[in-house]
Amino acid sequence: MSARSWLLALLLATVAGADPELVDPVVARGVNSDTGADIYVSNRLGCDMTVTLELVEQQNIVTAPPFPCTRTIPGHSEVLFGRIRAAGDGRWNYSYKSFWHYGSLEARHDDSVVYSLPYASGVTMKINQGYHGKLSHTGDNEYATDFSFASGTPVLAAREGVVVSTEERWSRGGATPYFRDRANLVRVRHSDGTIGEYDHFRLNGVEVEEGQTVKRGDLLGYSGATGFATGPHLHFIVYSTYDGHRRHSYPIRFRTAESPAPVELLQDVRYTAP
Ligand SMILES: [Zn+2]
Repeated sequence: MSARSWLLALLLATVAGADPELVDPVVARGVNSDTGADIYVSNRLGCDMTVTLELVEQQNIVTAPPFPCTRTIPGHSEVLFGRIRAAGDGRWNYSYKSFWHYGSLEARHDDSVVYSLPYASGVTMKINQGYHGKLSHTGDNEYATDFSFASGTPVLAAREGVVVSTEERWSRGGATPYFRDRANLVRVRHSDGTIGEYDHFRLNGVEVEEGQTVKRGDLLGYSGATGFATGPHLHFIVYSTYDGHRRHSYPIRFRTAESPAPVELLQDVRYTAP
């Protein structure tokens, strides 16, 4: 590279804000033989990932198990996902695509669990966006809640569990698709296998590590506006998955100072942590 192109590359990196590299959590690879291929899928994150493999092209092959096939890959593991073999003599050919989503296929939410508000006792927050919120709580985010956290506010665990993945490298946010996979976050796996995900922490604002057990009320980190966000807030959601395409989010109930009974949180209402 010439001195001039080095300078240009440096300028472009500065203009782009030099975001860290985005890395896929799941990788599928085929180990080929004369009669077919074994497909291995690896999960580089600590949380369960659910993966669906689908054939794009197929000629004279059989797969075991039959494709499309969906499986949950435990954290930091690689599994033999499936085998593709020639069905008979002659030419054979295949190609496949993999799709993935965070969370487990087997997990089901324990609806008897009542959550703690994810902020300190005596603090009041407004619900900026509730379940089915028109701004962004549709589809995979159907049962998410946005709390009105100002930047730098302590985020506390709403339910006990094990921290299974964290991200705190991102520095920016915005309401464009570019930012969808670029939020600082914490994922906590609960005893029923569901994941509680806390999003939009500030840069280097995560205070827990993967593998750590957290109790309710433990500090997870400090809020911010990284990822798909128009301003500082906390997005919280509990989910498992249907398959590699779609996530299954759950309506949950919280303990609040306003009511003796557990409640589902409503948009535009303020709640104080007891
Ligand atoms: Zn949200």
